[in-house]
Amino acid sequence: MDCARCGTCCVAPDISALDKPLGVRCVHLGPDLLCTVYERRPEICRAHRPDSLCRAVSAPTLEERVAKYLALFGLEAEARQVARDGTRSMRQARASRGSTRGERR
Ligand code: SF4
Repeated sequence: MDCARCGTCCVAPDISALDKPLGVRCVHLGPDLLCTVYERRPEICRAHRPDSLCRAVSAPTLEERVAKYLALFGLEAEARQVARDGTRSMRQARASRGSTRGERR
């Protein structure tokens, strides 16, 4: 399966290597939904491959795709809390709630 370049995997999941919280857009994701640091992106991003999840979250907009991703993993409430708190650090978000769920990569 080819990458659809939909941007969802750069927004929806927690990414430890980037300290990126759940549902927060990676600071390196460009407006065209392409990685702006592609040649030096973290190993975890290099290792990521498109799979059936990409098809499962397919939707017209990035916002809809991210919402579908979070719903599939039952993470909507946690993502809403992160958004409410304005948290930009995954470690900070986890420490404040003691959560260990939602990390995909
Ligand atoms: S570093 Fe690049 S590939 Fe990795 S999540 Fe950010 S935008 Fe996506």
